[in-house]
Amino acid sequence: MPKKTKRKLVHPTLPMQRQLNLQHEGRYFDLRTIFERLNERHFRGRLRGYNVIWGRRRRHRPKESFIFGTIQEEDRVIRINPRLDQPFVPKWFLEYILYHEMLHSVVPDETGPNGQRRVHTAEFYRREREFPSYRRARRWEEDNLARFLR
Ligand SMILES: [Zn+2]
Repeated sequence: MPKKTKRKLVHPTLPMQRQLNLQHEGRYFDLRTIFERLNERHFRGRLRGYNVIWGRRRRHRPKESFIFGTIQEEDRVIRINPRLDQPFVPKWFLEYILYHEMLHSVVPDETGPNGQRRVHTAEFYRREREFPSYRRARRWEEDNLARFLR
């Protein structure tokens, strides 16, 4: 799966970069607005104190896998890949990506037989499929992934 959840330490950044990183308003989509509505509709407003921001733009495109979004639960940051801030991206797809990350904050991780942490559990997938445009979004992802890779 191209979507991955990363829980890594934040690299120290220059003040200027940090400031840019805190932006939720993109050119086409405002992540804050989308987040609030999803939180209301699907999580009963349970997610509190989260920062939902566009990630930094990278100069080079990934070749093999594309990370749409990440969540860092320690400091409550959901970061969305800025390449999704484009007019050809349907709003319901971006909503699905955000929903996926938000779901990580409410569905507990499990530990596998070899002690490895599993974040995409059966329960996680069950709840993910409850998202209204889940099938449409997965199909769109499959059909359009190449546009994000090179
Ligand atoms: Zn995930």
